[in-house]
Amino acid sequence: MMRVGVVGAAGRMGSEACKAVANATDMELVFAVDKNNIGDAVRDWAGVGAGDVRVTADLEKTIYSSPADAIVDFTHPSFAAKNAIVALSHGAIPVVGTSGLSQDSLDEIERACEDTGKPALYIPNFAIGAVLMMQFAQRAAAYFPSAEVIELHHNKKADAPSGTAVRTCELIASSRTSDPAKDSTEVIKAAGARGGTIGGVPVHSVRLPGLLAHQMVIFGGPGEVLTIRHDSMDRASFMQGVLLALRKCSSQSGLVIGLENVME
Ligand code: NAD
Repeated sequence: MMRVGVVGAAGRMGSEACKAVANATDMELVFAVDKNNIGDAVRDWAGVGAGDVRVTADLEKTIYSSPADAIVDFTHPSFAAKNAIVALSHGAIPVVGTSGLSQDSLDEIERACEDTGKPALYIPNFAIGAVLMMQFAQRAAAYFPSAEVIELHHNKKADAPSGTAVRTCELIASSRTSDPAKDSTEVIKAAGARGGTIGGVPVHSVRLPGLLAHQMVIFGGPGEVLTIRHDSMDRASFMQGVLLALRKCSSQSGLVIGLENVME
């Protein structure tokens, strides 16, 4: 049985992760850490598979008394790197799902991997369909250099654009074989109307209640338009990827970024 702890366990993603781990026959939920809901019984939302695990406040103290083989982190970009380093220093592999980590944070995690000889996974999107969308977009960019990304998320999301959108733009930029068509917009009537730009790809972030996680990649060519769209309709859509990453994490080395590198 793989021993797994969840950090951010009382949040929207963390509570789903507790449920997925508690219901996996090859995993044991050994702890659930959050700065809120301390003392709550995890089985109240994750089912009997969660045993007697209750929400605790401090990852370092908790992982010391309840060792884990891996942790899953769904907290906030300003805490996730520290949590990953605490996990590594206690022999647990961090599987970081918190999105929007800075390059400095990723560098810190990578150094901790080198120091401890343990791997770490940073997976900005656990939805298998979203990973395929990025791969399809990368393939399309070789033929359609002109592309724009529109990502749509719920209005509680902390970062914009999403980690998936950033990665999609980077992949498009890396596989373009010619320059995109010139944009002849001369007058911007509202700041940001043409979005931000990553690797020369315009990216637009929509934030509205009612949405979960959605993205469109639109390619334009002479007389044709190709749209690739992915929609996560429910947070359960991420859990197949969470379990896959947990099952594969011990065979990785160093800092692995992106579910696509674990799926292969
Ligand atoms: P949320 O606000 O519902 O949950 C975050 C939880 O983390 C909260 O319960 C909060 O109390 C807790 N928390 C924050 N800082 C903490 C700390 N220092 N120690 C302990 N607990 C702490 O947010 P959410 O919607 O669950 O999203 C969490 C993260 O996951 C975000 O970065 C989001 O973008 C990301 N996310 C990733 C994926 C993916 O596929 N990788 C999918 C959806 C969301």
